[in-house]
Amino acid sequence: MTVILREGADLRKLVRGWKAAGNIVGLVPTMGALHDGHLSLARAAKAECERVIVTIFVNPRQFNNPDDLKKYPRTEAADAGLLATVGVDVIFAPTADEVYPAGFATTVSVAGVAEPLEGVLRPGHFDGVATVVTKLFGMTLADRAYFGQKDWQQLRVVNRLVRDLNLPVWIVGCETVREADGVAMSSRNARLGGAARRIAPALFAAMTRAGGAIRSGADPTTALADCRAEVLASGFDSVEYIELRDAATLEAAEGLNRPLRLLAAVWLAGVRLIDNIAV
Ligand code: AMP
Repeated sequence: MTVILREGADLRKLVRGWKAAGNIVGLVPTMGALHDGHLSLARAAKAECERVIVTIFVNPRQFNNPDDLKKYPRTEAADAGLLATVGVDVIFAPTADEVYPAGFATTVSVAGVAEPLEGVLRPGHFDGVATVVTKLFGMTLADRAYFGQKDWQQLRVVNRLVRDLNLPVWIVGCETVREADGVAMSSRNARLGGAARRIAPALFAAMTRAGGAIRSGADPTTALADCRAEVLASGFDSVEYIELRDAATLEAAEGLNRPLRLLAAVWLAGVRLIDNIAV
C-alpha cells in the first residue's frame, strides 16, 4: 500500500531527500474518488518522473456550492488501493487545517482566462483552484505537474498562473479519459442513477456532431443551437453553456483558423457535468 502523509513538514523532508538524489518529482493533484482519468495522469507522471506524489484534498475554497462540497465522494481507502497498482511513491492527503491554518490570508486570483464560463457560473471557484494549486506546488516542490484536459479552463488557468508567477514547474495536460460510451470519467458520475447514466452519453455525442459540423463549414451559431436543443431533448435538465471558444484564451471564437474548443456545462439528475472537445 502506498504511504499516506498528512503533514506538509513530513512531505517536505521526503521530497528534499529525493531532490538531493537528483530525482525529478511529478505531482498529480486530485480531490480523490479516483477513476481511470486520474490514474492516467498518475501513469503519465510515473512514465516521466522518478518520483510521483498524488495529492488527495477536497479543497473547500473551490466549492462555490456548500451542498456540492458536502456530497463530494470521499473514498480514500479505495483510492490508495488504486494508486498502489500504479506504483506512485506517496499520497499526500492533508487536512483542511494543514492547508489553511489559522490566519491564512492569501488568495491567488487569475484574470482573463479564468473570467468567462466557469468563472461566471462558479464565482470564486478559480480563486480556490489557483490558491490551492500554488500551495501544492510549494508544498510538494514538484518539477512537473499533471492536469486533465477534462477541466480545460482549469488547465488554461494553471498554465497562466505558472507563467505569470514564474513558478518552477512544468505543466502537462493529459487527454480526457472516457467510458466506452463516450461519457467523460468524473467523480461526480457516481451520483448519477441508472436512468440518468443512460442519458449521459448524449452530451458527448451531440458535441462531437456539432464540432464535426462546424469543421465541415456549418454556421457555428446554428450548430451550437442544434447541439443545445439535442442535449435538452435527450433528457438533460438544463444547459448552463455549450460554447465555442478560442482554445487558449477562452475568448469568443473568431474564425476557424486557430485551435478552438467546444465547452459544455450541463445538469443531469441534479448533477453538474462538464465536458469539452477540440474543434
Ligand atoms: P479532480 O479530482 O476532479 O479535481 O481531478 C483531478 C485531476 O484529474 C484534474 O487535473 C482533472 O482534470 C483530471 N481528470 C478528471 N477527470 C478526468 C478524465 N476523465 N480524464 C483525464 N483527466 C481527468
